[in-house]
Amino acid sequence: MLARNSELNGALSSVQQLEDRFNKRFGYPWVFLNEVPFTAEFKEKMSAIISGPVSFGLIPHDHWFQPDWIDEEKATAGREHLIQDGVIYGGSVPYRNMCRFNSGFFYRHPLVQKYKWYWRVEPSVNFLCETDFDPFLFMEENDKLYGFTVALYEWPVTVPSLWNAVKEFIDVHPEHLAPNNSMKYLSDDGGTSYNLCHFWSNFEIANLEFWRGEAYSKFFDYLESKGGFYYERWGDAPVHSIGAALFARKDQIHFFDDIGYQHPPFTHCPRNGEVRRTKNCTCTQFDSFDYNGYSCLRKWEQAIRS
Ligand code: GDP
Ligand code: MN
Repeated sequence: MLARNSELNGALSSVQQLEDRFNKRFGYPWVFLNEVPFTAEFKEKMSAIISGPVSFGLIPHDHWFQPDWIDEEKATAGREHLIQDGVIYGGSVPYRNMCRFNSGFFYRHPLVQKYKWYWRVEPSVNFLCETDFDPFLFMEENDKLYGFTVALYEWPVTVPSLWNAVKEFIDVHPEHLAPNNSMKYLSDDGGTSYNLCHFWSNFEIANLEFWRGEAYSKFFDYLESKGGFYYERWGDAPVHSIGAALFARKDQIHFFDDIGYQHPPFTHCPRNGEVRRTKNCTCTQFDSFDYNGYSCLRKWEQAIRS
């Protein structure tokens, strides 16, 4: 979990729910990261509700803050443009730091480096059902790389030049494209344009080695060189999603229908009533974002069927 000290209560709530709904059975370790030291209060309260191992890490300066080579005038103009468009976090530099960090750095942090699998958790999210199975084992045993619960469209003004950068990268490095990838999920015209579909990355269960691998590493470096994390407002959700959809096979991406999850304002609730009953879910299919007009789940299902 990446979190600010000011988010302690929301962080405690998320952690307590996931411990209760899942981790008390498994005792997996928690890692908390922050660009400033966690307060004693944060560490003490968090440690008290976690049964297994827990660690608190500081993010290296260069993994978080805007690099010196970014043209600040251009970055300022980019922020002003998004403020005028009324885009959420349009004028925020910390938000951009966070998106860049989550796109290309969290998996290299010394406290994360020793792990192969992670479940990304944010403050103030809700886990709505029991998770009685081990999703990491499921991923490992079924040769999966990336798991999600919510899929949706990105705001176009946050990523105007992202797809061009993606196409340039693919032109130079076609060898990194996975056979049987899910380009169909990202593009409705065979790769010419981006349809803005992505997996909502505030929930992710995924393989860290995939991000550390050659394809995604080179891809991230190429995107970084474009400066779009600061000149525009590239989110880690579209960046991860494009990476997963292009460099993993489509059968390596998994929709965790069985995990009830809410990051306001959107919820995913298991479809099957029997599943909701056995897993004691506090949601119904009516809460679910799955087939909302802004959801990309239908597109995902079409992409994997074809
Ligand atoms: P949203 O989900 O896109 O609205 O963005 P959030 O505010 O939830 O931020 C995403 C994640 O990054 C959450 O886990 C936040 O706690 C974390 N985060 C966002 N900004 C900062 C920051 O400036 N410092 C730290 N340490 N964490 C941040
Ligand atoms: Mn959030």
